[in-house]
Amino acid sequence: MSVPAAADVDGWRTRAAEFARAHIEPHVVAIDHDDRFPDGLLPALAQSKMMGLGLPTEVGGSPGSNRAIAAVLEELAASSAAVATLLSVHLAVAAMPIVEFGSAEQVRMIVPPLAEGRRLGAFALSEPGVGSDAARLTCRYERAGDGFRLNGSKMFITNAASAGTILTFATKDASLGHRGISAFVAAATTPGLHVAQRLDKLGIRGSETTEIVFDDARLPADSLLGAEGEGFSIAMAALAGGRVGIAACALGVARRAFELAREAARASPDDWKRTEVARGYVDLEAARALVERAAELKDAGRPFVAAASAAKLFASQAANRNAQRAFALTGPAAGRADATVGRILRDARVFPIVEGSTEIQELILGRSILGR
Ligand SMILES: Cc1cc2nc3c(=O)[nH]c(=O)nc-3n(C[C@H](O)[C@H](O)[C@H](O)COP(=O)(O)OP(=O)(O)OC[C@H]3O[C@@H](n4cnc5c(N)ncnc54)[C@H](O)[C@@H]3O)c2cc1C
Repeated sequence: MSVPAAADVDGWRTRAAEFARAHIEPHVVAIDHDDRFPDGLLPALAQSKMMGLGLPTEVGGSPGSNRAIAAVLEELAASSAAVATLLSVHLAVAAMPIVEFGSAEQVRMIVPPLAEGRRLGAFALSEPGVGSDAARLTCRYERAGDGFRLNGSKMFITNAASAGTILTFATKDASLGHRGISAFVAAATTPGLHVAQRLDKLGIRGSETTEIVFDDARLPADSLLGAEGEGFSIAMAALAGGRVGIAACALGVARRAFELAREAARASPDDWKRTEVARGYVDLEAARALVERAAELKDAGRPFVAAASAAKLFASQAANRNAQRAFALTGPAAGRADATVGRILRDARVFPIVEGSTEIQELILGRSILGR
């Protein structure tokens, strides 16, 4: 008997909210201040089964629709955008593309430790100087024996310092543009692969953002994901799915910011604050509708790329607008170093950038609407 979709979504939402109360809220100020997650957080996430949500049960996953995943990410992000980002990247742009594009053998070998939360996944596309126009990437691969040798640097890579499995992209010849790019699944223990630096950021502190370097790193033949030359389309497909997740994270931030703005307005005699709360409500509800629509289309196996871009674009802006509102309505106390409002304002800023900036979403949407 299949579980009705609403029960699936509500059940996971409740579990995620309970998880956030028990395992995130007590540490949320320290996570931001120390820029690290407490030691028990990843094991607790693994135990919650959220690390395998939506992945096939035969390889250790837990049944869950894309709407359920979006609900989980929204709940986690309402507490900590950093924790939600960790999970969104792990699931949507690491584990899921491996399931979608991997051979049966690759899925059997690589996915169980990810689904069971024994390993964390990362997605390494961006490079120093290569972001929006990913087809220009320069990290090189060449054949070496019956495997591959990689050389180059990957920048702003989420989760990578702790990741066990890194989905990475390299070109055999940069002059071939997107046609030269292939996708590889690299174990973090690969000799020649190391973390060069961990970046100290304004927001989503706790979430690792790193530069990783492939220095004559040798990958086995079975590390190639999909066919040679298919890497760029794998990256784009992964990012389309990822945007539903990032949009859900932004929705969680938009919601928390709205709640803080509402609290501040209730405690104040100023009538102008009512209008700001009304605007925040519209932003929140519109973001929710777009996120749910994108997740529903993905669940139904229907085209969802444009809907995911629209959801990501709008929800990330809504998160920023609502964070600004919460900040303005709270007054000077919002500027304290440990204030939730200030943290949310800093956290929100990441969402219009990652997994394709706002301007890139506009390009994707414009192409999709005009068909060119
Ligand atoms: C916290 C954080 C985590 C990240 N995690 C990951 C990760 O896990 N894996 C990964 O691969 N990458 C990751 N990134 C990188 C992220 O995907 C890039 O920052 C993003 O794609 C934008 O690239 P860029 O920063 O190089 O900016 P650029 O591409 O240099 O763009 C700069 C500005 O120009 C605009 N712009 C660029 N091209 C156009 C155009 N054609 N038309 C109009 N405007 C344009 C952009 O919208 C942007 O506003 C992360 C970034 C951050 C900040």
